[in-house]
Amino acid sequence: MRYLSTRGHADRKRFCEILLEGLAPDGGLYLPETYPQISPAQLGRLRQVFSAQGYAALAYEVLSLYIDDIPSADLRALCEKTYTEAIFGTREIVPLKPLQTKAALGATVYLQALSNGPTLAFKDMAMQLLGNLFEYELTRRHAELNILGATSGDTGSAAEYAMRGKKGVRVFMTSPEGRMSPFQQAQMFSLLDANIHNIAIEGVFDDCQDIVKAVSNDLEFKRKYKIGTVNSINWARLLAQVVYYFAGYFQATQNDTQKVSFSVPSGNFGNVCAGHVARMMGLPIAHLVVATNENDVLDEFFKTGVYRVRGTADTHETSSPSMDISKASNFERFVFDLLQRDATRVKNLFQDQLSQTGQFNLGQDPLFAQAKSHYGFLSGRSTHADRLKTIQDVYTDNHIMIDTHTADGLKVAVPLAQAEVPMLVLETALPIKFAATLVEALGLEPDRPAKFEGIEALPKRVKLMPKSVDAVKAYIVQHCD
Ligand SMILES: *Cc1c(COP(=O)(O)O)cnc(C)c1O
Repeated sequence: MRYLSTRGHADRKRFCEILLEGLAPDGGLYLPETYPQISPAQLGRLRQVFSAQGYAALAYEVLSLYIDDIPSADLRALCEKTYTEAIFGTREIVPLKPLQTKAALGATVYLQALSNGPTLAFKDMAMQLLGNLFEYELTRRHAELNILGATSGDTGSAAEYAMRGKKGVRVFMTSPEGRMSPFQQAQMFSLLDANIHNIAIEGVFDDCQDIVKAVSNDLEFKRKYKIGTVNSINWARLLAQVVYYFAGYFQATQNDTQKVSFSVPSGNFGNVCAGHVARMMGLPIAHLVVATNENDVLDEFFKTGVYRVRGTADTHETSSPSMDISKASNFERFVFDLLQRDATRVKNLFQDQLSQTGQFNLGQDPLFAQAKSHYGFLSGRSTHADRLKTIQDVYTDNHIMIDTHTADGLKVAVPLAQAEVPMLVLETALPIKFAATLVEALGLEPDRPAKFEGIEALPKRVKLMPKSVDAVKAYIVQHCD
């Protein structure tokens, strides 16, 4: 298996070469040269593997179709070490829960739990594997990596819990001072591992991102201090997420001719892009529903063909903050497929048109209609009022609490659910992470998993800094020996 860039760079790379990289050298995103095709016989075998041996074995089977530069026994061991009941809370890892909803008669709606990992958000599903893959590959190369990131909450904590104590890796995570929920702050700042560094910046999330970009653009510093990232464009993260689409499918169906749909609370288009990859491999998915909040860049595209990046001023701060994006960083991958892998056009759209005008329009292109007809994409948008109502309805009808992002996914899914096609709504976080909105909706505090009891009172390790590139660089230098 070789990987190419969506912008047409001539290089072809293997999995472990792109594992520790971000963007391709031409600014494009990596994708496999072709998607491995799952025959009906193979799908039957994967169902068998999943039911007899569980999620880790399924993960190994799917990953091995894309990774041919890690010996099989090692890859299997990495999957088995990652996807355990101890780390993900249940033996099924991603169990389904049927929901009573107001969906059309005969339509079954399920929640697929992806957020029982260490930080209670779906990002653990990929990040936990990434931590083990990084440690494996860095050890093999006798190398080190300093991960520099910016977070408004979920990504940073998932990265820190995945990398804590790992050999060869240090994490320097910037976050805007005082902007994360108290629970999120406690989750991150209570990590006392020597290789984890929390940096609170006196500024907003964009200031943190600007600092990370400035440090990464200093190529000499980047090389000397081995700076890397773990953002959602990393192909290994996306690949790890493909697995749970298979696991959801097998749990919701009895045989391999049935179809299911997925509804995915979306921001950077990483999660739903993994669903797209699973569908391209031949997993029988009817629809992939892209659910957005008030930041509806993606809903607008799937409705009109216009992709319009938002400025800082018109990016809304919402009660599903992990979907508050101004542009969707993985979206280029889907556009590459939609345009029949025409890298010259992709480069023109994303490199030239977007930087010059902040938008492009595929609405008039005959290929645009295929987003729905051929690739199965549908979309919708949800607001704060929708979230409150959805959280209330689910609580009334099922006596369970869902988080605000999952509520966006469910709100958009219900009117689109079809009879005879199970609709799987991906649960991307647990409600305790966004307790204030749950209290607003229900007047109740969400349940807190026992391991997080009293977390706010634990000692914290965090360095407060002005918004200064030099201050962050100096801190990295000081902690790199
Ligand atoms: C990151 C995140 C999302 C958005 O996922 P993308 O892959 O960026 O589309 C949705 N919900 C939660 C809780 C998240 O942490």
